Amino acid sequence: MPRPMIVGNWKMNNSLEQALQLVASLKDSLTPNPNAEIVVCPAFPFVIEVSRVLENSSIKIGAQNMHSAQSGAFTGEVSGSMLAGLCEYVILGHSERRSLFGETNRFINIKVVSALDNGLKPILCVGETEQERDSGNASAVVKTQVKSGLADVADITSITIAYEPIWAIGTGKIPSQEAVHEIISHGIFEVLQEIYPDSYNIPRILYGGSVTPQNVVNFTADPLIDGVLVGGASLDYNLFSQIVALTLEAKAN
Ligand code: PEP
Repeated sequence: MPRPMIVGNWKMNNSLEQALQLVASLKDSLTPNPNAEIVVCPAFPFVIEVSRVLENSSIKIGAQNMHSAQSGAFTGEVSGSMLAGLCEYVILGHSERRSLFGETNRFINIKVVSALDNGLKPILCVGETEQERDSGNASAVVKTQVKSGLADVADITSITIAYEPIWAIGTGKIPSQEAVHEIISHGIFEVLQEIYPDSYNIPRILYGGSVTPQNVVNFTADPLIDGVLVGGASLDYNLFSQIVALTLEAKAN
């Protein structure tokens, strides 16, 4: 059964006014679809205000990150227990967190476990660098990230995995459909089968990296892919709503 999902990662963008305008427009224009998950991920200070606008809407809220500890002396950080009740989803292991803030597979795994303990649904991001791709290691890198990220996770019902080649994020470059299919098959599905041989629950799988209305169907046409994680284009109401519509249409066929 199709279970399309479209996630907008706003990163450190939008003023409060722009954020509220964007969600208000999305709320007014999107037709509720019980099988589809549409998620927006504002910056922390805007989560509460955005969630007020989204009351009685089917659009969900995600956080862009969290700390693994429940509380304590971690200046500038936000815990899963603080997000619980405000957000349904949390993006973990985004490549910008890995590369700019030194997050390791082990640290990301502790966050995944903590998110689940707090009732949040992790969107675990994985993906290879250009160099890893060029040396033919993309699937192996992704495999390690998935395996490490899900260590000590017994139940994968609430997990979403976003395959985001790092070299495609924010660059306008995109991988071929064949390459994405191959990496998701070998780097994600094989490892899931290995760790969870008896699980009936397969995480939703997203593609992310320079998604636009022009290229989204390249990815969502693949039956292995449930939807997309969108950065830049999620800041623009017209682009994001087209991506949502095109994804829902592709997944309805
Ligand atoms: C992202 O940040 O996860 C992302 C996919 O960004 P963009 O769509 O801008 O490449």
